[in-house]
Amino acid sequence: MAIRQDDNRPSRRFGIINLLLIGFGVLLLVSNFLPNPANQVPRVPYSLFIGQVDADNVKRAYITSDQIRYELKEAPAEDAPTVLATTPIFDMELPQRLEQHGVEFAAAPPRKPSFITTALSWIVPPLIFIVVLQFFARRSGMGGAQGALSFTKSKAKVYVPDEESRVTFADVAGVDEAKTELTEIVDFLKTPERYTAIGARIPKGVLLVGPPGTGKTLLSKAVAGEAGVPFFIISGSEFVELFVGAGAARVRDLFEEAKKKAPCIIFIDELDAIGKSRAGSMGMMGGNDEREQTLNQLLTEMDGFAAQDKPVIVLAATNQPEVLDAALLRPGRFDRQVLVDRPDLSGRRTILDIYAKKVKLAEGVDLDLIAQATSGFAGADLANLVNEGALLAARAMRTTVAQGDLNEAIERVVAGLEKKSRVLQPDEKRVVAYHEVGHAIVGHLMPGGSKVAKISIVPRGMAALGYTLQLPTEERFLNSKEDLEGQIATLLGGRSAEEIIFGEVTTGAANDLQRATDIAEQMVGTYGMSDTLGPLAYDKQGGGRFLGGTNNPRRVVSDATAQAIDREVRGLVDRAHDRALTILRHNNDLLESISQKILEKEVIEGDELKDLLASSVMPHDALLNAPAVAA
Ligand code: ADP
Ligand code: ZN
Repeated sequence: MAIRQDDNRPSRRFGIINLLLIGFGVLLLVSNFLPNPANQVPRVPYSLFIGQVDADNVKRAYITSDQIRYELKEAPAEDAPTVLATTPIFDMELPQRLEQHGVEFAAAPPRKPSFITTALSWIVPPLIFIVVLQFFARRSGMGGAQGALSFTKSKAKVYVPDEESRVTFADVAGVDEAKTELTEIVDFLKTPERYTAIGARIPKGVLLVGPPGTGKTLLSKAVAGEAGVPFFIISGSEFVELFVGAGAARVRDLFEEAKKKAPCIIFIDELDAIGKSRAGSMGMMGGNDEREQTLNQLLTEMDGFAAQDKPVIVLAATNQPEVLDAALLRPGRFDRQVLVDRPDLSGRRTILDIYAKKVKLAEGVDLDLIAQATSGFAGADLANLVNEGALLAARAMRTTVAQGDLNEAIERVVAGLEKKSRVLQPDEKRVVAYHEVGHAIVGHLMPGGSKVAKISIVPRGMAALGYTLQLPTEERFLNSKEDLEGQIATLLGGRSAEEIIFGEVTTGAANDLQRATDIAEQMVGTYGMSDTLGPLAYDKQGGGRFLGGTNNPRRVVSDATAQAIDREVRGLVDRAHDRALTILRHNNDLLESISQKILEKEVIEGDELKDLLASSVMPHDALLNAPAVAA
């Protein structure tokens, strides 16, 4: 694709103005310093002039405000000049003196500035001001601001598809439903007549909803590429400006440009930056005038373009559709919504295929295994993974990417870069070892579709000192109550092991406890999994669905219910803790032996780990239907 800045005419125009200005300035300066022909009279000191007057040698004098020009009766020497000039001094006696000595004298009226000078003195300072302003605007306006006078220009970039760099649907994988829906849009853009002839209304806006990195931008480019139409791309945050009204002007400008190039696509990333619900923000921020104006302008523009023979279709992306203003979603605006979610197993496999083709893979690399191990990865993460793998291979001076590189790349993407420099003290290392083995043993015995694949006590990234990697054996969309209870117990396994072995707890379990409590709260509040409280959702579904629900305010409940909820959550966690303790006490020998092993090797994985964990035993009283411990 050829990428071009949308419009560079203004900057050229300003270039010319600049040149003119500089020309003016130079002229003005030069004209001041150019010798004035009238000034080419020899200057003499004032005292000499007075002396000559007193000596009756001055014939006549011509007095102006800045000089006195006078003519001598006779030159003092052979060919000395007879016309001289001097600078006047404030001298009230001068006229009298001249009169006494019979000098013929006249004064000039105060000099009037010429028209040109007046004009220039009015024009030049503002122009200089503009130049300075523009200079600063250009320096501060990174990302293509085109000067102080053009902040109303949209900053959209235009891609005009050309053959070799065209993005097509073949470049996007794992989002088949979204592709199917967008195929229709391609058709609208290619043959609008077919639809308008029947009287069908071509949709104007499509909202792509999904977490970051799932390929929303890529899909939109592919729509443009498939239809062979220009593609305007801009982020919602670029509309929001300091100046009230600038955002709205930009929207207007963007649509004007787009209409000139129709049929075409406008892609607005982060629509939520301008499209946040007006109702929602009023209370907190006292209303945001600028954003509201921008939003209104966008709505107006979308309602405006009726010429359907040359459609302009607006695609917009967001990961929080629930915060969008309802007005945006009305018919005729973004009335179509396409979900672009994280890819499933086969989707991940096809995305990996796309990116694996761009690197040199070693013989026998099994991408299926990689796809299995990357549940929850978005397309961008997978692209990143393959690239990390290639970097690792290159660093090790190999010419192809091996399975091991990709495996390590997964861990890198998951847990951040390995911090070799971080050294644990031996006693800390012991704690981490038992902690992680505790997770592993409990996790191994718990139901649910996960198996413990790796234990490591090599510190990684910022937070984790060690980690236990659990991989799902199958793709799961639903978790049963037992699965979730198992997850809580597994999370508490680390802390439980510390309690059993060291008789005390460390700060290392903070993250585990956080996650365990979250799960327990969701079980009671969101999934209605509590027997005593029944199938009610006590948490309001709020926050971002795709961002994992940042704050879930509780529904209004009575005090008694609130207490009951707290009791239930507490009960779930306590029971899971007891189970983890029971399991680990029962498998104490195994806990010891695996921990010793990991202290030697730092990492245990694969078949070795499987064999070790195979000898773990599920004690009877930790079975799932064990009698509930009273809370
Ligand atoms: P979004 O707009 O949803 O945040 P992008 O489209 O910007 O995500 O994705 C970033 C990059 O990740 C893309 O340029 C592409 O390289 C890769 N990518 C993401 N999703 C996919 C996908 N479904 N298929 C292929 N590549 C993808
Ligand atoms: Zn832990």
